[in-house]
Amino acid sequence: MREIETDYLVVGAGASGMAFADALVANSDAEVVLVDRRHRPGGHWLDAYPFVRLHQPSAYYGVDSRALGHDRIDEHGPNAGFYERASAGEICDYYARVLDEHLLPTGRVQFFGMSDHRGGNGDGHLVVSLLDGSETLVKPRRKVVDATYVRSEIPSRHVPGFTVEPGVTLIPPNGLVDLAEPVDRFTVIGAGKTAIDTCVWLLEAGVDPDSIRWIRGRDPWQFNRAFTQPLDLVGGYMRLQACWVEAAAAAEDGRDFARRLEDAGMFMRIDPSTEPLAFRGATVSRREIDALRTIEHVVRARRVRSIGRTSFTTEAGEVRSRPREVYVDCTAAGVRAAAAREVFEPGGITIQYVAVGFLPWSAAMIGFLETTGLSDEEKNRLCPPVVFSGDAADLTGLAYAGMKGTVARARHEGVGPWSAATRLNPARAMLDHIDDAEVADSLASIIEQTPAAFENLRHVTDRGRR
Ligand SMILES: Cc1cc2nc3c(=O)[nH]c(=O)nc-3n(C[C@H](O)[C@H](O)[C@H](O)COP(=O)(O)OP(=O)(O)OC[C@H]3O[C@@H](n4cnc5c(N)ncnc54)[C@H](O)[C@@H]3O)c2cc1C
Repeated sequence: MREIETDYLVVGAGASGMAFADALVANSDAEVVLVDRRHRPGGHWLDAYPFVRLHQPSAYYGVDSRALGHDRIDEHGPNAGFYERASAGEICDYYARVLDEHLLPTGRVQFFGMSDHRGGNGDGHLVVSLLDGSETLVKPRRKVVDATYVRSEIPSRHVPGFTVEPGVTLIPPNGLVDLAEPVDRFTVIGAGKTAIDTCVWLLEAGVDPDSIRWIRGRDPWQFNRAFTQPLDLVGGYMRLQACWVEAAAAAEDGRDFARRLEDAGMFMRIDPSTEPLAFRGATVSRREIDALRTIEHVVRARRVRSIGRTSFTTEAGEVRSRPREVYVDCTAAGVRAAAAREVFEPGGITIQYVAVGFLPWSAAMIGFLETTGLSDEEKNRLCPPVVFSGDAADLTGLAYAGMKGTVARARHEGVGPWSAATRLNPARAMLDHIDDAEVADSLASIIEQTPAAFENLRHVTDRGRR
């Protein structure tokens, strides 16, 4: 068996592993071995449905040392008026270039694609080629980095949790672009962002809303995309931060927190008459919400149990279907609910969200922190994990962890300046716009409300634990 030594073994070359490795290599002389089961870096984006786009602007996705996209504001389509959002193709090309043009040329990074990490012990970590079975023992001198912990679950690699009778057409959204015959009706299964993307895409393609049926259980709260914009539109993002802190200072529980953000225009729901109970941090535009509301045929059910040729069954009963009905499976979780664990441990790092909703910023922050020489205890204090349970009731716990990390990092003289300046920070243009009333007022409100927000979140979270 071949043996190699390195400083860091990074398992997973998706957005997490790439942002971590980039920040680590840029700020230290560390050597890295990056392994992934897939043939290239990019993670789930390599298998994404063809019409997927980032939820957020490209301007703050990816890695710290290379821009993604051109910071253009879209003039047409559902994203008009907002900063461009990359397609899966652009994202995959981007990560390939980060590897080929930034990381490999340092001479300190090796990439093992089509390679499975099979675990480790005191001797090292076993990495097996999925092509010829050859084995490599990787011996990390410093740490092994788990960049798979918050990995995404996506439709094309997802096994549905219901039975399907032969003859039924059930496809992931990826299959929509391969349809060769017109269909009687599309039944979209799932309540998350993938289902939303699928419905919006069908509607934008001209499908009559009456030809779409949507099976969704718990509706999700969505961020209003207008308030997630960076650079010249950063004022809206700062307003979101101010409303978030204000809601945190007053909310009685997670659901109340969400309703307060809706009242402020920051959160949106699809159905005005149904309170959303889910939250996964996705964003939509007002225009998308208006389009989704034209779909009137909604089946309120959380679990599809079986799909037959003439009907399907859920926990709410049996529903008839049409002969040439196409079912679109959007039930993969997307962002998985992963239990919080300490990010920094002796010999290991587990990449997780440490900034609410922003994985690349979180992973790069962890990579940068690893280069500071701070103790694991101090690094963990600066990076409490932010857990997306998927449940709106847990929003106050998520907000509490997010605020603790944000404030601790901002106050830290070695970390604050890096975090403020990285291209992955949506607020990086804040100081350039400090004379805008929206930015200045939001900042003043954040400073004023932060002590009350901490006090209230501590109280609400403690009460929730009892
Ligand atoms: C459709 C969609 C859109 C999203 N949009 C955004 C967005 O705009 N902004 C945002 O911040 N987040 C977004 N997210 C959430 C999250 O940031 C992204 O999904 C992100 O790309 C996840 O990256 P990851 O590296 O954690 O996971 P993945 O992309 O799943 O990568 C994990 C990698 O680990 C590899 N792997 C796993 N186990 C092993 C093993 N044992 N050995 C070797 N390799 C292994 C896998 O092959 C995979 O390539 C989105 C998620 C989805 C699903």
